[in-house]
Amino acid sequence: MARKIGSRYTANQILGRGSAGTVWLGEGPEGPVAIKLLREDLASDQELVGRFVQERTALLGLEHPNVVSVRDLVVDGNDLALVMDLVRGTDLRTRLDRDRRLAPEAAVAIVADVADGLAAAHAAGVVHRDVKPENVLLDMQGPLGPGGSHPALLTDFGVAKLIDSPRRTRATKIIGTPDYLAPEIVEGLPPRAAVDIYALATVLYELLAGFTPFGGGHPGAVLRRHVTETVAPLPGIPDELWLLIVQCLAKAPASRLRASELGARLRELLPLVAGMPPLDVDEPEAESAQDEAPATEEAAPVGERVRRRGAVPLVPGAKPADSNRDTHTSMRVPAPDELAGGARGTARVPRPAGAPRPGSARHRAVARRRRVALGVAAVALAAVAGVGTWLATAEDDAGATPGDTNNSAPATP
Ligand code: ADP
Repeated sequence: MARKIGSRYTANQILGRGSAGTVWLGEGPEGPVAIKLLREDLASDQELVGRFVQERTALLGLEHPNVVSVRDLVVDGNDLALVMDLVRGTDLRTRLDRDRRLAPEAAVAIVADVADGLAAAHAAGVVHRDVKPENVLLDMQGPLGPGGSHPALLTDFGVAKLIDSPRRTRATKIIGTPDYLAPEIVEGLPPRAAVDIYALATVLYELLAGFTPFGGGHPGAVLRRHVTETVAPLPGIPDELWLLIVQCLAKAPASRLRASELGARLRELLPLVAGMPPLDVDEPEAESAQDEAPATEEAAPVGERVRRRGAVPLVPGAKPADSNRDTHTSMRVPAPDELAGGARGTARVPRPAGAPRPGSARHRAVARRRRVALGVAAVALAAVAGVGTWLATAEDDAGATPGDTNNSAPATP
């Protein structure tokens, strides 16, 4: 089912579907390409088409080994298409879905690649705004890197910016996951380069842990955590790597590293994590529904453990309400607690591997067994104490009564 795109390209086969459209394996004058055909409702929006054309130079100008280059923009009748380099491989989300978490060496190498790609973009004045595993492609035909990782390329540059506008967000509900949104975006400030660093540090945390630092539960709760909570430590990773993650997840954008620094620091850390197996941590329990945002059909029932990638507009229409807060405007050197997040609480702490989730059937069974064991132990203790007391009182008629020894017995289950 080949399809002509403009006069120069043919779309031959669907490679994948995304939120903004469908990506096709195509053919152009210079060989195979990937063609992202934007959704019809986006392609028919004249304002959007205008912005695509306006941004053409910025989009087409990005050339870096860790960036999926946009080769051409096609506006043809009802079609609006981005012609990109074809990456033969898979996206990082698919890899995470398969492996759950990566060995630290591979995770660090992949994120260092993406940081290098971001550095090139930021130097050209382009903010990605939608860094997430779905937008990182792994080139399976490229040479194997540290930890057996394939070269990583960041894709979808500038697309979030082009397709987002408060009007459009309202009208078409363009959605994204809130897991990677920097706190300043949640607060309505314009996204600058530091939002990409925050999102990339979130991706690194997720690659190591198997879950994002502030995700889980209602989207509103996720957004709140970005603003108010400190990231929970990941047991088992070198301090230097942890400090880097914490610094890039700082609430204050000015405290985060720049992309080039992040890439360089991560590469320095590679020998430290060489050969380490994937971390052995379990995802923390989602908060109870009472602690979540107001109930909607999306709110998770109490005790429900299912993690959701909630859908919220990528760019909230809210005006900055607190632009005088030093979290965003001050360039002063932050205090250590601010670097650690400067937040009012710690995000859900990962459970040791194998520990049951609170509220789960296994947790209840373990708790029941523990209560029974405690009850048995208490009865045994009381019996021993009773016998002991009886012996004592038999020898010396002025001891404690057996009943006193039973005060510490737990309530019955
Ligand atoms: P989203 O809009 O959700 O970010 P995309 O539309 O960018 O997703 O991509 C959808 C899928 O198409 C990706 O998961 C990936 O598998 C595939 N894809 C995207 N870009 C390319 C590319 N340049 N080369 C090869 N496959 C791609």
